[in-house]
Amino acid sequence: MSRNTILFEQACRVIPGGVNSPVRAFGSVGGAPCFITRAQGPYLWDADDTRYIDYVGSWGPAIVGHAHPDVVRAVQEAAANGLSFGAPTEGETRIANAIAKRIPSIEKIRLVSSGTEATMTAIRLARGYTGRPKIIKFEGCYHGHADSLLVKAGSGMLTFGNPTSAGVPPEFIQHTLVLAYNNLDAVQAAFKTYNGEIACVIIEPVAGNMNLVKPAPGFLQGLRDLCTQHGALLVFDEVMTGFRVGPQGVQGLTGITPDLTTLAKIIGGGMPVGAFGGRAEIMDYIAPLGPVYQAGTLSGNPVAVAAGLATLELLSQPGFYENLEAQTQKLVKGLVERAAVAGITFQADQIGGMFGMYFSAKIPTSYADAVTGNTEQFGKFFHAMLAKGIYFAPSTFEAGFVSAAHDDQVIQTTLDAAQEVFAQMRR
Ligand SMILES: *Cc1c(COP(=O)(O)O)cnc(C)c1O
Repeated sequence: MSRNTILFEQACRVIPGGVNSPVRAFGSVGGAPCFITRAQGPYLWDADDTRYIDYVGSWGPAIVGHAHPDVVRAVQEAAANGLSFGAPTEGETRIANAIAKRIPSIEKIRLVSSGTEATMTAIRLARGYTGRPKIIKFEGCYHGHADSLLVKAGSGMLTFGNPTSAGVPPEFIQHTLVLAYNNLDAVQAAFKTYNGEIACVIIEPVAGNMNLVKPAPGFLQGLRDLCTQHGALLVFDEVMTGFRVGPQGVQGLTGITPDLTTLAKIIGGGMPVGAFGGRAEIMDYIAPLGPVYQAGTLSGNPVAVAAGLATLELLSQPGFYENLEAQTQKLVKGLVERAAVAGITFQADQIGGMFGMYFSAKIPTSYADAVTGNTEQFGKFFHAMLAKGIYFAPSTFEAGFVSAAHDDQVIQTTLDAAQEVFAQMRR
C-alpha cells in the first residue's frame, strides 16, 4: 500500500476527514490525498517520494516558488530572535509600509493571522463605520468561513441567502444579500430596495473560488459608482488576487479604488498572515482608536512578517510579473491547443499568475455557469495528470497558480503530459 494511503488512514482516525481544511481531502475527485514531505521551487514530493509539478502553490502563497532561499533565510533569522512577543515590532511597520507603498488605496493597514480574519473584520469595520447592517456578497465568491459570509445564493435575484453550513443560525445571515456575479442590475435593485441599509459590497474582484471567473467589462466600475452613490463601502477581497494578478492586485489592473482591501496568502510568503487596509479615516474606526473591536495574540507575528517582507521584496524585481504572466499564458494556450487536437471540450483562461481550466464549451462568467462544467471529465483529467506527476487543485472550482519557478521546461513537461492525458480521455 502507498505510504500516502497509510498516512491518510492514520490521520482519519484522529483528524476529521484526515485533513485540516476540507478541499485537501480529494473529496470531489476521490482517492487518498498526497501527504507532502517537502517542496522546492515548482516541485512537491509526497510520502512515497514521488515528485510533482505543483500548480496549487499552497493555494497561492508560493508565488516565488517553494522554499525560496531568501524567504527561508528571513524566516530562520527572525525565528532565532524569538517566535512571538505579543508586543509591537519594527517589522510590522515595515511590512505595513511595503504594502501601502504598493497598493495606493491602502493608507493604513492592520495585520491579522488569516484571510478569514481579514474579511470578517473588514465587514465589521464597514458596518461600524457606516452604522448600517446589511452586506452584499456574490454567489460563488469565498471570503473565508465567518458565519455571515457562509451563504449559499438564494434562487431569486434578491433573496436572502440560506446558510451553506450547518451551525449557522439563519438569523446570523439575515443581513447578507447574495447576488449573481457580474449582474449589476441586481446590485442596483438591492440598493434601491434596501436604501440606506447596505454597509458594503464585498467581492473577489477576480473570482478564484468558483474556478477562475473574471468581472465583465464595467462591472467593477458599476459597483464603485453604486457604492459611492449610496454611501456604502466597496470591499475588494484580494486575499487571492493581491500580488497574484499583478503588483497592485486587481485594483492596479483596473484602476478601480476600493474603500477597503483584504489580503493574505502571498503577503505571508507561506506563513499564516492576513491583513485589511484602506482609507485612514475608515481604518481609524478600529480599536484602540475607534469603537470597532479587533485583536489577535499572534497578529503581526515576527516570523510571518519576515517571510512576507522577503516575498514582497522578490516580487519587486524588474520583470517579475511579465515573466509570471508569460509562463501562465504558455500553460493556458498549450492546454487549450492540446485539448482541441484531442477533441475534448475544454477552455482555459488566466490573469497574471492565476489560471482556470474549464471542461465546458464556454468560459464561465458566474457561479451558475461555473457549475455546468463537466466534473467527471475533470476528475479523470486530475487523476491522470497526477499519475504523470502534475499536481493540480483537486477540485474543478479552484483556480490554479503558477510560480516564478515554473520555467519553460516545467511548462513543457506539463503540456507533454496533458497531450497524452487528453488523447487518453478521448478514447
Ligand atoms: C483563501 C481566501 C480567503 C480565506 O483566507 P484563509 O487564510 O484561508 O482564511 C478569503 N478570501 C479569498 C478570496 C480567498 O481566496
